[in-house]
Amino acid sequence: MTSQKTPGERLVLLSVDGLRPDIYRAPESRHRFPNILALEKAGASAEAVETIYPSTTYPAHATIVTGVAPRTHGVYSHLASLDPTEKARPWCWFAPVLKAPTLWDVARASGRRTAALSWPVSAGAAIDHNIPEIWNPAVPDPHKDFDTPARHATPGLFAEVAQVLMPIMGRADPDQLRGEAALYLWNHYRPDLLMVHFVWYDSQAHHFGPASPEALAALESADQAIGKIRDAITSDPGTTLVVLSDHGFVPVEKEVAPLVVLAEHGLFARGADGSFTLRRLGAVSAGGSLAIYWLEQPSPDDRRRLETALDRLRETGVVQQIVDRQQLEALGADPDAELMIEAAPGIGFSDRLEGPVVSETSKDRGTHGYLPTHPGMEAVFIAVGREIAPGKNLGRISLQQIAPTLVQVMGLPADILAPGKESLLLS
Ligand SMILES: [Zn+2]
Repeated sequence: MTSQKTPGERLVLLSVDGLRPDIYRAPESRHRFPNILALEKAGASAEAVETIYPSTTYPAHATIVTGVAPRTHGVYSHLASLDPTEKARPWCWFAPVLKAPTLWDVARASGRRTAALSWPVSAGAAIDHNIPEIWNPAVPDPHKDFDTPARHATPGLFAEVAQVLMPIMGRADPDQLRGEAALYLWNHYRPDLLMVHFVWYDSQAHHFGPASPEALAALESADQAIGKIRDAITSDPGTTLVVLSDHGFVPVEKEVAPLVVLAEHGLFARGADGSFTLRRLGAVSAGGSLAIYWLEQPSPDDRRRLETALDRLRETGVVQQIVDRQQLEALGADPDAELMIEAAPGIGFSDRLEGPVVSETSKDRGTHGYLPTHPGMEAVFIAVGREIAPGKNLGRISLQQIAPTLVQVMGLPADILAPGKESLLLS
């Protein structure tokens, strides 16, 4: 016998969006998250996970399933549009944008059954039972748009799951719905790989702050859903449970609109109705950072205008640093961006084009999107299973180490994922 894992090892992968390890470990609130803490004790866990740049949901989730940086997997930001003058911008919802093989590709290549709920960048993915994360960008509350994910789900699956959720619809939060849907998929299809994206903590942390009562209540709800899923899968000892996150979170005091300065320097045009239109410059805000693109070859005058605008922005004290193309390459970040503006601590960027540059009253009290080394951007990784050492501290790990580790845990071939960082030793 070789030392390979038992064939048929299952994996349940739960992502708690935006969760920072010190949020659930904080002495004053840890009693509220008994399930996450019990899993941490029962398995191997990272002190902290260093995420990718920008530290946002879509590029990070793509890294979790491919094991490579955004530059290699092709999801550089959450938005599929570089045009900040566009009203309802589409997100990178569709899996074909991924340029590197995913965990679900590896599982399927071995004939294993796969399932996913609200997983980012999974619309149209080759997943057996899939309800992707996708919404109509024109609706006011994406959490209430059920029609769009239903249309992009595995045929018939959304109606099937909705029937089970009917009794709690209207009083359950988005994560309770995901938790119950996950239990249904587990019980009825027993997938070899089940991936669930919990979103409510991130949503509340954006609105009220990462340690706000609202965000902690959301996390409590995710913790309970995780506990129920753990209880359901214990009857199958060949199942590994992984709880992780994509990035951390920090509080913000001020909202800053760098594009207002760029517009003042003539880098956007005005249409006949006075509204802004695109010239040569594109932009995507990630909250803690903002990416700038030349959509067409800039003139020397365009370049000068951008430089002057950036100087002006620096003078306001809201910029931590300008991340140039060379640094972006070293970070494995967006190859198309001319540069990224990294916000100073306490500052959250928006892609607002009008109004004051600095708004003292931010509608959001928390954000992410900063450099992976920005304090507070750390993510979570916990793995529990029969071959995983209880209480093992993995130290500080990279988000890129997770996919190859999960492939190993499931006993799948190691050579399908794109070459990347070394897998973790969990036993
Ligand atoms: Zn996220």
